[in-house]
Amino acid sequence: MDIKKNVETVTDEIQKACERSGREFSEVTVIAVTKYVSIERAQEAVNAGIIHLGENRAEGLQEKYNSIGPKAKWHFIGSLQSRKVKNVIDTITTIHSLDRLSLAKEIHKRAKQKISCFVQVNVSGEESKHGLPPDEVLTFIERLSDYDNIVVEGLMTMAPHIEDEERLRTTFRKLRELKEEVEQKNWAHAPCHGLSMGMSNDFQIAIEEGATHVRIGSKLVGREDQ
Ligand SMILES: *Cc1c(COP(=O)(O)O)cnc(C)c1O
Repeated sequence: MDIKKNVETVTDEIQKACERSGREFSEVTVIAVTKYVSIERAQEAVNAGIIHLGENRAEGLQEKYNSIGPKAKWHFIGSLQSRKVKNVIDTITTIHSLDRLSLAKEIHKRAKQKISCFVQVNVSGEESKHGLPPDEVLTFIERLSDYDNIVVEGLMTMAPHIEDEERLRTTFRKLRELKEEVEQKNWAHAPCHGLSMGMSNDFQIAIEEGATHVRIGSKLVGREDQ
């Protein structure tokens, strides 16, 4: 596994997707998802120039943070149990999976400073997926103003695991439209300029549809779990 090569390939593909859609490369933050790989491989990604790392479990995040530390910026991308918030809150810059008030309350209580959050939305409506139904998002975000330490940086979704490009595009586009609705509210606690969407299989389409944060695992750092 040549991670440096992967970083070059992915960077090139992002650049091209930006060109196709008239966007700037600097608008896109690449998060290398290291949940499938060892500490050593996550470290290799950092050595290859990756700044942002994403983990979906509190234990995985703690383990890698203890070894790699604050030279990487840490993103929590998985469903987070409220009782584990205290274990990760001091090490992360961003949570991508805010989906309930009880979690917001716990983040607010434990955070020593404002925490940047993406509200997770289940755009595709699949039962297996976490996140709020689209029609509950505005009410949910309005209520988050009760929790001073929460800043809503944007919305996040996971697209269905399919090849159908048009359906993927529709999913991403719906999230963008929803984000624009939130932006138009001009809520101080919810600037909501960000879109966390796009993974190894679909990040190019996500970028064409406006992604500001792509979460890429297997295509950047591979998998060691299978
Ligand atoms: C695992 C995971 C990813 C990355 O998946 P790949 O398909 O390996 O790129 C992105 N986002 C979330 C929320 C994940 O759990």
